[in-house]
Amino acid sequence: MSLVTLKEILAGTREGHYAVGAFNFNGYEDAQGIVEGAVEKNSPVILMASSSAVKYIGLYQVAGMVSGMAKSVDIPICLHLDHATDVAMIKEAIRAGFTSVMIDASALPYEENIDKSREIVKFACLYGCSVEAELGRVGGKEDNIVVDDPSAAFTDPAAVPRFVEETGIDALAVAIGTAHGFYKSEPKLDFERLQQLVAVTDCPLVLHGGTGVPEEDFRRCVHTGMSKINVGTELKATYSHALRKAVADNPESVFDPRKYVGPVKAACAEVVKGKIDIFGSADKAWSCR
Ligand SMILES: [Zn+2]
Repeated sequence: MSLVTLKEILAGTREGHYAVGAFNFNGYEDAQGIVEGAVEKNSPVILMASSSAVKYIGLYQVAGMVSGMAKSVDIPICLHLDHATDVAMIKEAIRAGFTSVMIDASALPYEENIDKSREIVKFACLYGCSVEAELGRVGGKEDNIVVDDPSAAFTDPAAVPRFVEETGIDALAVAIGTAHGFYKSEPKLDFERLQQLVAVTDCPLVLHGGTGVPEEDFRRCVHTGMSKINVGTELKATYSHALRKAVADNPESVFDPRKYVGPVKAACAEVVKGKIDIFGSADKAWSCR
């Protein structure tokens, strides 16, 4: 089927007490693995390309590849541009066929974040594309965006209603204690804050920095009302380990590249299936929309 929007794929998540996993990919093998894992679980799934992945693969190549993957299966798939700050790239992604984009203007002051996010929503509306924005700052390092002290920038629930109302966004990334990349020590999530955020808005909420969050914390986030959970770093690590192992396991006389990169698909599919079980989205392929 055709790609669906973020708005469509997240509809019903909060009421249904499940979240849709959003997984970063950097090439064909991991992207196809994500799709195959979701198909096995009969789950909706979001494929995310970061700005650097788009620069590596190519914008139209990403859009063409993932829309082709969606056409070959019967689960809802959304193609999302993750953490974009460059308005020109965002607009080009929308034109290329992405069904969701994230405008990350969270480094800007509140008013400017509203203005920039609203500008993207206006443009995206013309193409029927969804928009995610961020309020507060998720810690860690994502592409070239580095936030050293995440606790200084947790999302303020009081700032949310006006932000959602004036921007018209379809999903809101919130900072409640997670960080991008690997954790040095176990993250401490602010569940009380999450509860307050859920109470002040119907806008679907997004958890960034999902790699290394304990399973129980994920379940509590989903139960409290988180709708989309991003996982990137874990898949990068899985890709690298699977590839290294395949190279090590095969004699030098094996020259078919598919023998080396092929196992990446299955390894990524396994990670995705595990997350789908935790996020509760198995057999929810037709609960959205
Ligand atoms: Zn993120």
